[in-house]
Amino acid sequence: MSQIKKVRGFQDIYGKNAKKYRFVVETARRIFEDYNFSEIILPYVEDVSLFVRTVGEETDIVQKEMYVFEDRGGRKVALRPEGTASAVRAYIEEGLYAKGGYQKLFYEGAMFRYERPQAGRYRQFHQIGAEIFGVDTPLSDAELIKMVKDILDQLGIQTRLEINTLGDFESRKKYIEVLRNFLKERKDLLCEDCKRRIERNPLRVLDCKVESCKEATTDAPVLIDYISDQSLQRFEKLKEYLKAMGISFIFNPRLVRGLDYYTDTVFEFITDKIGAQGTVAAGGRYDTLVKQLGGPDTPALGFAAGIERLMLLVEKLPDEKDLVVVIPVVSEFNIEGLKIADRLRKKGIKTELILKEGSLKSKMKLANKIGGRFVVFASENPELKDMETGEQERFENAEDLIDVLAEKVLRT
Ligand code: ATP
Ligand code: MG
Repeated sequence: MSQIKKVRGFQDIYGKNAKKYRFVVETARRIFEDYNFSEIILPYVEDVSLFVRTVGEETDIVQKEMYVFEDRGGRKVALRPEGTASAVRAYIEEGLYAKGGYQKLFYEGAMFRYERPQAGRYRQFHQIGAEIFGVDTPLSDAELIKMVKDILDQLGIQTRLEINTLGDFESRKKYIEVLRNFLKERKDLLCEDCKRRIERNPLRVLDCKVESCKEATTDAPVLIDYISDQSLQRFEKLKEYLKAMGISFIFNPRLVRGLDYYTDTVFEFITDKIGAQGTVAAGGRYDTLVKQLGGPDTPALGFAAGIERLMLLVEKLPDEKDLVVVIPVVSEFNIEGLKIADRLRKKGIKTELILKEGSLKSKMKLANKIGGRFVVFASENPELKDMETGEQERFENAEDLIDVLAEKVLRT
C-alpha cells in the first residue's frame, strides 16, 4: 500500500520541537497574564468577507494565500490567516466593549496561508498574539511593545526592534499617489508581483522581499514626510517612552506591514539568524478597524508572533525534571511496579513505567534507551540504581525507597 504523506506546507511537531512549542506558548501566556490580558479562543473558520474587509482586498493574504472553501451549507468560509480580524469581530459581536470600550485580549493557535513553504514559512503555522482595545495613547503602543520584548527576553531571543508610523488614512492617501508615480518610473526594475502592486497596492512594494525590488526603491519617497503633525507628535512620544524604558529601536521609514488595517504606529521584531524569514513578531495600531466592521468607534492595537520562528531561535529549554524509570522485576504477577510508579507520580516525580513483558535484561535495555536518571527495580525488596554513578541500593520496602528517591529528585 502506498504511504500517505503529510500535505505540503504542513508539519508534525514532536519531540524536542514540541517542547519548544510549549515553552514558547507557556512563556507568552504567563506574560500576557502578568499584564492582565484575558484569553480569547477564536474559531478557525470565519466568513470570507471578514478577511476581505479587514486584511484588505488587495493584500497578498486575501489575493493568493487564503484557504477558502464552501461548506456543506453553501457558506463561503476561510481558514483564518491571522487573528486580529477574528478578535475584532468577537469584540463587536460579543459586546466586549462594555467597560467603556476598554479590553485586553490574547490568543494562540494555528493560522493558514497558502504560501511557498520554506524554513520559517509554512501553510499551517501558529501564532501568539494580543490586542488592546479602547485606548489611543502612545503609552499603549509602548506597553504593547514592552510586553512583546518581555516575551522575547524570557525566551532568550535577541532581535532588533524596527518602528515606523503610517500616519492616518488621509495623509497616507497623499503619499500613496506620490509613491505610485515614483514606482511607475521604475516599473521595469520591479518583479511581476510589484508591477501589479503599483496600481493595486503600491505600499506593498516597499515590503517586497525580492532583492531587485529593494534596490529599485532605496530612494523612494518616504511616508514620514507626508504625515500629519499630530501623527508625528505621537510617534515622538512613543520614542520617548521606549527610550525611557531602555528599549532600543531603529526607525525604519520603509516599514509598512503586509496588512491594510494599520494606522500610525507599526513595529517589527527582526532577527538575521533565520534567513529571509526574519520577522518574528509584528504589529501596530488599527484605529479605524472596529468601526469599519460595524462596531463603535474604538481605537486599538495589537501584535502577533510566529511560534515556529520563535522556536527556531530558542536555544535553551528550561531544566527538565529528572526521569525515573520503574522496571517491574520479572515474576508471575508483579503489581509493585504499578504501585511505585503511582506513588512517585503523586509526589510530582516524572516516572516512566516499563510496560513491556520479557526478561529483566530486555527491560533494562529499554530503560537505557529511554534514558532515565534513576531506575527502580520494583519488587517486594525494591532496588534503586543511580544511572550516573552506577550505585545500586536495595530497600526493605517501597516507602523507604520512595523517600530516598524523592530526596534526590526533588532536591532543587
Ligand atoms: P512575512 O513578511 O514573513 O510574510 P507577515 O507580514 O505576512 O510576515 P504577519 O501577518 O504580520 O506576517 O504575521 C505575524 C508573524 O507571523 C510574522 O512575523 C511571522 O513570525 C509569522 N508568520 C507569518 N506568516 C507565516 C508563515 N507562513 N509561516 C510561519 N510563520 C509565519
Ligand atoms: Mg506574509
